[in-house]
Amino acid sequence: MRSGRHAIVCRIQGEVKDGPGHVGGAGYAARMTLVSFACGHGAAPSDVGAITLRRACPLCMLLHETHRTRGELLGRVASSSRSALASETRLGAVYPWVCERGHDRYQATVIDVLTGPSCPKCIRNAQSPTVSREGGVASMNAGLRTRTSLTEQRLRALLEERIRVPRGVNTVRINRMFYGKQEVWPDILVPALRIAIEYDDPGRSRRAHLGLKEASDREKDDALGEVGWEVIRVRAGGLESIGPNSIVCASLTADVADRIVARMVELRSADAVDALRVGVAPARQAEA
Ligand SMILES: [Zn+2]
Ligand SMILES: [Zn+2]
Repeated sequence: MRSGRHAIVCRIQGEVKDGPGHVGGAGYAARMTLVSFACGHGAAPSDVGAITLRRACPLCMLLHETHRTRGELLGRVASSSRSALASETRLGAVYPWVCERGHDRYQATVIDVLTGPSCPKCIRNAQSPTVSREGGVASMNAGLRTRTSLTEQRLRALLEERIRVPRGVNTVRINRMFYGKQEVWPDILVPALRIAIEYDDPGRSRRAHLGLKEASDREKDDALGEVGWEVIRVRAGGLESIGPNSIVCASLTADVADRIVARMVELRSADAVDALRVGVAPARQAEA
């Protein structure tokens, strides 16, 4: 968790450092007020000495990446700090927060609240033995905000021509927190094999930051690995392989689905995958 979160913060701060005026290092906090961000936070562009960056502020960038809104954060902060947080730009700023489960008020940074467990009592509860026994269990979270692209639907359809892919599951319970939740929601889940399939392409990644998304993808893969899952990533549109489970392709074709199934066999065994095959030859069914 720490290393992943650190990578995300560095990436966002790196983005800011790249800008004109070299905002960073020890002078970062002191000079924040002189930076005007594209989201409208920070200094006014007309302020004397203000540096104008054509980027959203670090906090707006992280909200975007984690699919959260500032309104959601404002609903969690102690009411006396609401107006300060409304225009906050820094990820490391400390605020008093109200636990949504009714625990005591606590102090934490904005990034801790957005990317991890931040209430001390909730952290202790998440570490209890009961919780870790549920790690790896797939289930349906009906309240999940899902964005299924046409490409993801096509990938699922191609896989369904080959193996049985259940539609009633969309999340996997993990043993750590990932963006404030103890579950991850990969594109496609095959619980019988403990394999998740993700579709990555530059078009989709452009909605956030490529580097930022890759850091969080790696963290998601690690979290699934801890609970015995493998993640097969279809890497389309020029994205490079990021490991033995990457299926690199120019576009989504039947061949890609065949390669995914072949990788499943390598990871889990032919027998395990055969048990899920659809349209199995009659001779084989008779043997079974
Ligand atoms: Zn902003
Ligand atoms: Zn709590």
